[in-house]
This record gives sequence, structure tokens and C-alpha cells, in this order.
Amino acid sequence: MSSEQPPKRPERAARRGAPSTPTAAATPVAPHVASALAASSPWAYAPAPESKELALIRPRYGLFIDGQERAPASGEVVITYNPATEEPLAEVAKGSAEDADRAISAAERAHRKTWSKLAPRERAKFLYRISRILQERSREFAVTETLDSGKPIRESRDVDVPLAAAHFWYYAGWADKLEYAVPGRRPESHGVVGQVIPWNFPLLMLAWKIAPALAAGNTVVLKPASTTPLTALLFAEVCRQADLPPGVVNIITGPGEMGMAIATDPRVAKVAFTGSTSVGIKIAQGIAGHGKALTLELGGKAANIVFDDAALDQAVEGVINGIFFNQGEVCCAGSRLLVQESIAEEFVARLKDRMATLRVGDPMDKNTDVGAINSLAQMETIGELVASGVAEGAELWQPGCVLPDRGWFYKPTLFTNVAQSHRIAREEIFGPVLSTITFRTVDEAIEKANNTAYGLSAGIWTEKGSRILQVAAQLKAGVVWANTFNRFDPTSPFGGYKESGYGREGGLQGLHAYLRGA
Ligand code: NDP
Repeated sequence: MSSEQPPKRPERAARRGAPSTPTAAATPVAPHVASALAASSPWAYAPAPESKELALIRPRYGLFIDGQERAPASGEVVITYNPATEEPLAEVAKGSAEDADRAISAAERAHRKTWSKLAPRERAKFLYRISRILQERSREFAVTETLDSGKPIRESRDVDVPLAAAHFWYYAGWADKLEYAVPGRRPESHGVVGQVIPWNFPLLMLAWKIAPALAAGNTVVLKPASTTPLTALLFAEVCRQADLPPGVVNIITGPGEMGMAIATDPRVAKVAFTGSTSVGIKIAQGIAGHGKALTLELGGKAANIVFDDAALDQAVEGVINGIFFNQGEVCCAGSRLLVQESIAEEFVARLKDRMATLRVGDPMDKNTDVGAINSLAQMETIGELVASGVAEGAELWQPGCVLPDRGWFYKPTLFTNVAQSHRIAREEIFGPVLSTITFRTVDEAIEKANNTAYGLSAGIWTEKGSRILQVAAQLKAGVVWANTFNRFDPTSPFGGYKESGYGREGGLQGLHAYLRGA
């Protein structure tokens, strides 16, 4: 077996989350905030680390095919790293098109012989069982997710894992009620579905995809992202623990080309992809003309719009949550702050005060708000886009927080004086970087919010209910949150317009995507 070399340590400027240009010095925080943050102040937090021992990470993992752990045809492995320490966590099988072929054969057999023959209420029992096991093993999943992805344990514990379990619970309820999901028709499963997921919410994206697929009677071949395979491989153990029939779920790790091999295989009737718009386009091109069903959940550049009548402190919290949740590595992140000009100065001042209190660092510490960036490649993307913002004339501000010496960390970053033409206003940064744009009228806010190639999500902050309805109806975004942001629920559909993709995940609409002719 051969293995890949560890990535090189990034340059110091990138590692510290600092832009490379001298014009970008951090502005001191407000004195009252600075004093509150001083180590000797009553507000200093003692470390509250979660135990790493809860994650029983094995040194090496194979592929999960036909209910068994298999060695990859290549005999090769890749290493998955802890982004917070840059240390290796485990060796993971490097699958190939040959392995995809074996997994698809297993899924096709399981669909034909077992899963499609099973009474729907029996399928539901498996989903309930999976949900319960996820709940029982939630701490193990949360710790594994945080070690592999860099996200704060507070978020994996309180968001990713409970929501993943809730998705299986919700879709278990649909499994024996499919005729009510599509009234007047006889809904049928597609057969084998191929699913490719990203690294920002590894377990949650798995749940979004596998739960409705199984409830609708399909079998699955799923490829996790190469930098975050561990919770998907732990989920393979859950499938075995739940006695799920072999071949119903197959999880194969490997490079992007293997994802394409899954998507283009003629036996795969439906493809679901979450990731970058560029890869989404490649997949759509690769399967065009083959009659496959396809859902694409791609990037975003959401506007979080704050009107002058909004409750400002609540709006500040919503903007903070909108961009710094999961280090901003969120497709629906509120990465463009649109703030009404009359309150812009006051709002930005409050935002800076709040940003100065964010705790950036060890994702395993329960106090941490902003964890590690998932990979060195993503750090470099963020660094490059931030440098472009400075070069194009936007004004950068970062709090004076101290980052750990090791690991891929980036300081929470705020840009003001941003023009709509700047790259930081147009491109998905996928990091803790907020670009501020002002507006004067409601129409201008709507026009600027829609001035993007994407259309995944948006936020509106105002006291006026009528304004919420007026603005939401004109925003070209699949999800619009009002006086909140980043709220997810298994019963609620999620998906985009334009370059954010098409199709919906979650809710009844998410079930339809896995039913033929729904
Ligand atoms: P990708 O789109 O490359 O990765 C997402 C998934 O697709 C991974 O499992 C990846 O595998 C797989 N993949 C890669 N290439 C192919 C291919 N040719 N055919 C089929 N599957 C493929 O995203 P990146 O990881 O490169 O991130 C780049 C940017 O994409 C980010 O900076 C962010 O802007 C955006 N992004 C958006 C996400 C979203 O939720 N909408 C999620 C992730 C990224 P592998 O990991 O092995 O390469």
C-alpha cells in the first residue's frame, strides 16, 4: 500500500489568517471589549476540552460494499488529517472506478432482491433504528466529526449530529406513506442512486441524502469528500449495527474521478450532488441525455439584509451566525451583509464589538465559536480572495484574537467599502469573511441582493412583517430567513436557483426527488 505525503505547512501569513498586504492592519477593538477580554478579567474562560477518547478512530479504513469492509482495488490509501493540529488521523481506502462498479453491482442487487421487496413499514423500522443509533452514539459522532473537519464541537454536538438523526427519524415517517406523498399516483423508487457529498457538513449531508433515498425504496452508493471521510465510515458501522440488508447502503472513499464514475454509470438512475458549482456543471454535462434524475446543491453568495428598523443587537447575532457558523464554510452562509446606509456606521461598530468576542481556536474546546478551516487548499482559497478584496480597495478589519500556532485557522474578517464588482462580493469564499455593502431603499436592497450568479439563501432583518413578505417574494433565493439565519429542519425543503443548483432536499419535496415520476 502506498500513502500520500502530508500537505506542506502553509506560509505564515496564510496560517495566521492575515492578508499579505501592509494596508490591512487590525483595528483595535473598543476599549470596553478589550478589557472584558483581558485574561485577568472575570470574562476569561477556562478551557473546556471534549475528550478525544470518545472517538474510536481506527488506524485504517476500507470501503463499505455489500455490507462488508473491502480493500480497494488499487491497494492504495489516502490520509485524512485533523485540520486543527495538521496531524494524521487515519488511512482511508483510495477507491477507483473499479470499486464504484462493485458498489453499484451490490446496490443494484440489493434493490432488486431485498429493499424493493420489503414492506414499506419494514423499511421504516430500519430508518428509525439508524436514527436511534445515531442518537445513542452521538458523542462519538460529534467528536469524530470535529476531529476530521475542524468544526467546533459545540456545532457538531448541537447541530450536525442531532439534525442528522432527525432526518432519519423524519423520513422514517414517510417510508410507509408514499401514496400520500404523491396523491393519485403509484410512486416508485428510482433504483440505485449515486450520491457525492462535500466536506463542510460530512454527516449531515450524508443524512440529507441517504434518509430520503432509503425511505423512497432506493439503494445507495455514496462518496464522501476526501478530506472528511470518517463519519461516513462510522455510519457504515451503524448500518451493520442496524442489520440493514447488505448492499442497501454502500460507502466508498476515493478521489473526484470516482464520484464521476458513480454518476455516469448506466445502472445509477438518480444522482445527487452537493459541492462546488464547477463540479456540479461537470456532473450535469457527464450525465446529460441519459435520462437520469439529478439534484444539484451548489454554491451561494447570500445577502443578509438589515433594514434600519431592525432590532440591531439581534440582527448582529444573526449576521454573526450567518457568516461565522462552521467558519463560514457553508453554502448558504450570509456572506454579503447588506445594511441600510442610515444605520451602517452604528451597525458595523456593534458588529466589530461582537466579532472581537468570538473565540477562535481549538475546535474540541466547548467554548470555541470558530474552529479550523477544513484543508490547506481551502485556507489558500480564502487567503487569495481576501488579498483580492484588499487589492481592489475594500477596507479590511479583523479582531485582535490570537490564533493557535499549529492548524489551519483564519481570523474572522470583515470588509467594508465593498463594491458589487469586487471578487469578494461576487465569488463564494467559503470562509469566515463578510463583505459589507450599503443600500438606501427597499428596491435597492432587493436589486443588490439579487445581483449574484447564485440564489441559494437570503436573510431579512426588519420589525415590519409586511416588509418581510414584500422583500422575500422578490428575492431570487431558494430559502429566505426572516429575523433569523441558518435555521435547518428536516421538514423544510432546501435548495437553490441559478448557479446554486436545482432540486430540493428536505421535507416532502426532498422525498419527491427520490421517487420516479413524483
Ligand atoms: P468539490 O465540488 O470539488 O467537492 C465536493 C465533492 O465532489 C467531493 O466529494 C469531491 O471529491 C467530489 N468531486 C470532486 N471532483 C469531482 C468530479 N469531477 N466528479 C464528481 N465528484 C467530484 O468542492 P471542493 O472541495 O473543491 O471545494 C471548492 C469550493 O467549492 C469551495 O471553496 C466552495 O466554494 C465550494 N463548495 C461548496 C459546497 C456546498 O455545500 N455547496 C461544499 C464544498 C465546496 P474529493 O473530495 O475527493 O475531491
